[in-house]
Amino acid sequence: MKTNLLDLDASALVEFFAGIGEKPYRARQVLRWVHQAGETDFSQMTDLSRRLREKLSARAVIEVPHSVSAPHGGDGTRKWLLSVGGGNAIETVFIPERTRGTLCISSQAGCALECAFCATGRQGFNRNLTTAEIVGQLWWAVRVLGSEPHKARLGEPDKARPVSNVVMMGMGEPLANFTNVVRAMHIMLDDNAYGLSRRRLTLSTAGIVPAIDRLREECPVALAVSLHAPNDALRDVLVPINRKYPLRQLLAACRRYVDASLGDEMVTSKWQRKGAPRDFVTFEYIMLDGVNDSPLHARELVALTRDVPCKFNLIPFNAFPDSGFARSPDSRIRAFQEVLANAGFVTTVRRTRGGDIDGACGQLAGRVHDRRTRRAGHSTIRVRSAEGRRP
Ligand code: SAH
Repeated sequence: MKTNLLDLDASALVEFFAGIGEKPYRARQVLRWVHQAGETDFSQMTDLSRRLREKLSARAVIEVPHSVSAPHGGDGTRKWLLSVGGGNAIETVFIPERTRGTLCISSQAGCALECAFCATGRQGFNRNLTTAEIVGQLWWAVRVLGSEPHKARLGEPDKARPVSNVVMMGMGEPLANFTNVVRAMHIMLDDNAYGLSRRRLTLSTAGIVPAIDRLREECPVALAVSLHAPNDALRDVLVPINRKYPLRQLLAACRRYVDASLGDEMVTSKWQRKGAPRDFVTFEYIMLDGVNDSPLHARELVALTRDVPCKFNLIPFNAFPDSGFARSPDSRIRAFQEVLANAGFVTTVRRTRGGDIDGACGQLAGRVHDRRTRRAGHSTIRVRSAEGRRP
């Protein structure tokens, strides 16, 4: 079978080229062609010799996921559906703001974690995405939005170069697909590919504790943790992975993660850097009416997280059919925010974007053929129309 070069980060590409008797610098050339020029046809890679181009065509391909829906959206937010084979499709969302443009990337077809309030969880789980399918979402966005990836790191998005930030906050649990996600993030950070800074690449996890430690070692990026509850009893219900990795363990892992952060002055290049790029963890906290949103919960949260350098991001619940939850009223969200702020925590409320296209947090349903035996009542599968587009 031919190797998909979109699956390979710089070190894997160097290995690939060594295997076919080629020099390491070929990796750099190919990364630039594929990710910066968007070229998927070896015959167009004009600084490679004809012999090498033929050799590559015989052994490798560059295969991006197929787009099955044109980008669409109302409030500037745009969403794509990308086919990942077997009738499955995943979603990628672009959220433009005044000072940045954020791309929200999926890591799995479906999700196995079954968080009580999440549409993706209700779809069930099909499989991990490959590195090509993960980084392919950025490849697509850059093409479709007309951005120049190497400019993205400047963080000054304009109409021509809109992607300045990437968040691993789409469908799936990124740390449950560790190897492929880390390889894809290496490509996003690579100056020969997308050149994102580690601060502008955020991974969000429901709390797979051992993988948080591994991430710190292998690819420290900004970390967000979906906390959602101030005690184990409630978190066990809302985020069931908590039964395996309870809050005490999770918060200790968060502390270890930021303890490893280094000040900017010590960094000579992002490749030499060890440790987290930011000295705080962002705790995401979903606001569910009457479930986890009382001032008492907020005070419990303050006590719980006192020893962790962190910021809070409150996420108003985004509804989906038969979710069984409702969004907290604004006044209640404000009161909750005030308790945290008064205790000295920087606390923001996530503006809900993309709700009109089911593109907001937790609404990404894509098209997932569940491969697991599921509980009754969790079998809703939303199917969207396919348009069959390619770049
Ligand atoms: N599995 C990872 C990545 C998902 S990120 C994680 O759990 O962090 C998406 C964020 O949106 C998470 O914080 C998730 O808990 C939250 N979320 C899920 N469903 C939601 C919903 N219906 N409304 C608002 N936020 C939701």
